Amino acid sequence: MNANVTGQLARQDAIVPVSRHLSYIAQTAFERPTLVVDSQAVARQYAALAQGLGRARIHYAVKANPAPQILRRLTRMGANFDAASRAEIELCLAAGAKPAQITFGNTIKRPADIAFAHEIGITHFAADATAELEKLAQHAPGAHVCIRLLVEATGADWPLSRKFGCSAAMALSLMDEARDLGLEVSGLSFHVGSQTREPQMWADTLDQVAAVWKAAKDAGHGLSLLNIGGGFPASYGTEVMAPNQYAREVMELVNARFPDAAEIMAEPGRGLVAEAGAIAAEVLLVSRKDADDLHRWVYLDIGKFSGLAETMDEAIRYRITTDHGEAQTGPCILAGPSCDSADVLYEKQLYQLPLALKAGDRVVIHACGAYTSTYSTVGFNGFPPLDVVVI
Ligand SMILES: *Cc1c(COP(=O)(O)O)cnc(C)c1O
Repeated sequence: MNANVTGQLARQDAIVPVSRHLSYIAQTAFERPTLVVDSQAVARQYAALAQGLGRARIHYAVKANPAPQILRRLTRMGANFDAASRAEIELCLAAGAKPAQITFGNTIKRPADIAFAHEIGITHFAADATAELEKLAQHAPGAHVCIRLLVEATGADWPLSRKFGCSAAMALSLMDEARDLGLEVSGLSFHVGSQTREPQMWADTLDQVAAVWKAAKDAGHGLSLLNIGGGFPASYGTEVMAPNQYAREVMELVNARFPDAAEIMAEPGRGLVAEAGAIAAEVLLVSRKDADDLHRWVYLDIGKFSGLAETMDEAIRYRITTDHGEAQTGPCILAGPSCDSADVLYEKQLYQLPLALKAGDRVVIHACGAYTSTYSTVGFNGFPPLDVVVI
């Protein structure tokens, strides 16, 4: 009878909804920091975003996480891709994507990469400068081009504003130049800023883009494609809106301003894969700099150079759990293992971790599926790139 009761308990435990990647981590010993991604969670997120985005096509921003299993899964679900280099294009092709499903959205392209893309049949590119249009005209004659607009910062947690895009006035003159170079001006693109937590934060940006869209049409450019980029948020410490609802609200803002855009595409990266992954890491050292110090230094076996680059300026604050449960916590400075003093993760805002935490303990860093494996160096200080397991 005891055995029977135990069996029932075990079955009940099994139906408690624990994420697959977290149970995998709990059951597995790793020798090195390892990112575990649940491909089923990526698929669910894709379906939810696709539902909310309605008529907008999804082009997954490959740089967020180019694991082949993720690309294959998304290809099977009918996703399109936005690639930034020849190598990313080749990853998409290897995952079964057709050239027609791939756009080359980087505004800073190598001529040989443009020629390669053109040769295999990729037709859609982005540009924000005359010299880039000239490269396209030379290496991808007749290509469709979206002009990328520089938009003002919206309050995103990881803004991308200044590096990419051009002013409204320049966008209009680039459209004329593109047409004169024999390129097909298809429309406008922009990026609202990564991790834009609220749909309403898109409104100002969309107003700016809509004004340029109208001016371009008035100038005789028959624009058809609006590329709204990425920016779809992931839940780190604080909850964010469900992906389908978030996407639906963004599309309401888009549709109200661009009723005449025949085609709309979105390029989610973070919002598609971040929550599907977590990193299993280990504490290497817990110390104080002086016996009187009120806070501890906690050094992990992963840092800024081995996957956690987005802790730069403490922009992304990952949730970290330990096996100590609800035990009493105290303030810590959290740092990585490399011999670079920049490799401190959280210092301005101290991190609360259990007082019992010690070297050798497992920590789990949550919502790490985006911008971690691609941000780890190849061997700085002899630390290998981040291991990735897709389940
Ligand atoms: C990185 C990038 C994205 C993805 O942005 P997220 O904020 O991660 O969704 C989309 N479009 C372009 C052009 C990008 O460079």
